[in-house]
Amino acid sequence: MITFQDIQIHFGSFHAIKNFNLKIKEGEFFTFLGPSGCGKTTILRCLAGFISPSGGSILLKDKDITHVPIEKRGIGMVFQNYALFPTMTVYENIAFGKRIKKASKAEIDRDVRDIARKVDLKEDQLFKRVSDLSGGQQQRVAIARALVLKPSILALDEPLSNLDAKLRVQLRNELKDLQKQFGITTIYVTHDQEEALTLSDRIAVFNSGNLEQVGTPYEIYNSSKTEFVCNFIGDINKIDQGLIENSPLKEFVPRNKVAYIRNEKVNLSPVSGSDVVRLKAKVVDREFYGLYSKYVLEMAGGSLLKTIEKESGHIGFEVGTETDVYIRLADIMQYDRTEREN
Ligand code: ATP
Repeated sequence: MITFQDIQIHFGSFHAIKNFNLKIKEGEFFTFLGPSGCGKTTILRCLAGFISPSGGSILLKDKDITHVPIEKRGIGMVFQNYALFPTMTVYENIAFGKRIKKASKAEIDRDVRDIARKVDLKEDQLFKRVSDLSGGQQQRVAIARALVLKPSILALDEPLSNLDAKLRVQLRNELKDLQKQFGITTIYVTHDQEEALTLSDRIAVFNSGNLEQVGTPYEIYNSSKTEFVCNFIGDINKIDQGLIENSPLKEFVPRNKVAYIRNEKVNLSPVSGSDVVRLKAKVVDREFYGLYSKYVLEMAGGSLLKTIEKESGHIGFEVGTETDVYIRLADIMQYDRTEREN
């Protein structure tokens, strides 16, 4: 278990982290998610020992590690830019930490080969120079280099962001399998919400050095605690006041609230339930993606709602079609209206 207790981090007069509290469980795949500059990396670097907090403490299984040197924390770090030694071979890169620890030649050889196999690096790649490898292979080396030291925590800072989209998905899946296989507590920093939702046991959403919400991917997506979280995660419709005033939603959304609904929860086919409202709509745009289509609907009062429908083989709704739309009241997320929105 990792505990961050009242952590504060200042850079000169800038308070990057004001008062950070969080507990991460043993074996969890835990993600720090948030926009650029919100403090994710700062907290990760503080955990690893690269930054000393100005206040507060970090506990590892009840042991205070706030001032323990980096190399004694047992944390393996993987960086966005891999931070490998480009002129050394893959083997030498993976072996580096074990050599520093003065492990025997035989142990180094056994462990390097073993971990290389696990991260899917081929035998013949071990003796190539790192600079001759592709980005994906280099990231595998960086992960192997961290894991070979058998850390109790693996900390990954945007490890996939330099890779192309296809490779990112492939490595993401491999990373998840690897984490399951090792059962190692993993902290993953990203600004990519899809990565966070697919990989994590739990996610912490950051905003300007503060935690907005901590929860499972399902909770973060379906019960976003704040307006910031609901906008940051996934595609969403803000329901216009015009639509609320001109529909049965008026009974449900008070004037001091703003209301949101996720695109896929705006249904073009009837849904059952006692809390379902039916609204009139006209299809004004459709984009066909093969597996699904995205629609833009014009609603009462002229406001627009986006929705997404899985394609089922027959021709979907053409532009101009008038149709009914079904919304479950329970799917509407409401937040206090701020001064700015009044
Ligand atoms: P990104 O995804 O862009 O790395 P992040 O959420 O990881 O964003 P941090 O790198 O943690 O953000 O930075 C948080 C804030 O602290 C930013 O405003 C950043 O400019 C500032 N900051 C980080 N490191 C330093 C430093 N060494 N000196 C001064 N300010 C810093």
